[in-house]
Amino acid sequence: MYLSAQLQETAKKFADKPAYCFLGQQSTYAELETAIQKFASGLEKMGIKQGDHIALLLGNTPHFVISLYGALRLGVIVIPVNPIYTADEIGYILDNGDVKAVVALDLALPLADKMHTLLPNVEHYIFCETKPDCLVQSELEKLSVYSKMKSFTEVIASGELSFQGPALKEDDVAIILYTSGTTGKPKGAMLTHKNLFSNAKDVGDYLKMNQDDRVVTVLPMFHVFCLTVSLNAPLLNGATLLIAPKFSPKEVFSLIKEHSATVFAGVPTMYNFLYQYPDGDPDDLQSLRLCISGGASLPVALLKNFEKKFNVLISEGYGLSEASPVTCFNPLDRPRKPGSIGTSILRVENKIVDELGQDVPIGGVGELIVRGPNVMKGYYKMPEETQATIRNGWLHTGDMARMDEEGYFYIVDRKKDLIIVGGYNVYPREVEEVIYNHPEVLEVAVVGIPDPNQGETVTAYVVSKNPGLTREQVQEYSREHLAKYKVPTTIEFIDELPKNTTGKILRRALKHQISQKVNN
Ligand code: AMP
Repeated sequence: MYLSAQLQETAKKFADKPAYCFLGQQSTYAELETAIQKFASGLEKMGIKQGDHIALLLGNTPHFVISLYGALRLGVIVIPVNPIYTADEIGYILDNGDVKAVVALDLALPLADKMHTLLPNVEHYIFCETKPDCLVQSELEKLSVYSKMKSFTEVIASGELSFQGPALKEDDVAIILYTSGTTGKPKGAMLTHKNLFSNAKDVGDYLKMNQDDRVVTVLPMFHVFCLTVSLNAPLLNGATLLIAPKFSPKEVFSLIKEHSATVFAGVPTMYNFLYQYPDGDPDDLQSLRLCISGGASLPVALLKNFEKKFNVLISEGYGLSEASPVTCFNPLDRPRKPGSIGTSILRVENKIVDELGQDVPIGGVGELIVRGPNVMKGYYKMPEETQATIRNGWLHTGDMARMDEEGYFYIVDRKKDLIIVGGYNVYPREVEEVIYNHPEVLEVAVVGIPDPNQGETVTAYVVSKNPGLTREQVQEYSREHLAKYKVPTTIEFIDELPKNTTGKILRRALKHQISQKVNN
């Protein structure tokens, strides 16, 4: 089965139900299906065909949903790109990804114009009108890409409802997701139709998504977490997306209250903001049946505080772009374990291995590896990286984890974030969990710093709630709960932790700050 074919089925079944709400507008499943069908046909009329690559440079708008499903229906490979990337970053992806057409907000077109000379292979720019800020016609005409431009509305208007898409194969690539990459340039994870469909289906089943759900879609749509959990899984099950263009606690509270949302999915930093929001009234979240956390580890103290304050369950899951993304979730019908990413979802196998690839006994720490219909085909044009990551059919996640006797997994840390102090392993997460529990601490990130004597030492970056909190107090508190070698030797107070657009803490940026400090 394929996502866009399944959407046709859902649209038949739930034709009059709202598929999404966006800034006060609603669209039914029948209307969404019509737009998708016409968009697919409109693309074909422009000469875009099966196997071509199209980049979506869009934030959270219905244009994203329509372009994604329309392109997939035509067998066109979609490359979602973070629209706030710099011209260089976008240029790299469009070039490496062999992009033939770009869908962007009209406001991004001057940027496209700049890139145009660098990327002569881009043949079409489809711009989505962001009324009332839309660029005026005279400004558009000045752009050098003007002759290659068409508006989103024009593409849909030219499309035909009778359009019949080409036959697709499950193993065909559907999406290429550029992952931030640990070193060097981003790599394009190729996800097939089967990868995307199976994960959306399995996640939907696992979380019991249904036509009565109203899901807050506030994670960025270009990121795989949103794509599968807050977009594809709800749409396959006839739920309604409550699309939020960007995250703000105020907007999220009012969106949930106004639409009686039932499911919220976010990254841990979002939960922290919602928890700390002074006007956050627990009554506003009454309608939620489930909160989902993923993308980074959710500190146990935050999980417990949030659940207590708002009386709603948070189920933590885990995934990565290369696995479309979900591999584990805390189950809804069995006990949920705080601090755990849960058990393997249907049809996906997770296991822990040592450096030699041998199984690690229960409770032991090793690398988490994954196998299942959700695992990517490989990295686009990078066969060596693919071979290094997928070995004997198992995807090597680069995350260190352990499994308990009931099959629940616990992420210990990223393999590369491990700190080695005088030969002892220190996992930053363990130290962070302790410091997080300090009542005066808002956020914390722990990194290793090179040290001539010990190899590395532990540094904690702390965002404090109270300007009176001292380094010594944080160290004293850590000493009460941690072995001596794990206690941070340096505590740096900081106003805000650097994060990427999906809310992940950028430990590398912190390390970079330190090395700059040392060098100055
Ligand atoms: P991405 O490919 O951007 O989705 O990033 C995937 C990475 O996010 C994983 O390899 C993990 O390092 C991290 N991650 C995702 N979910 C969790 C979680 N629940 N706990 C800890 N780390 C997570």
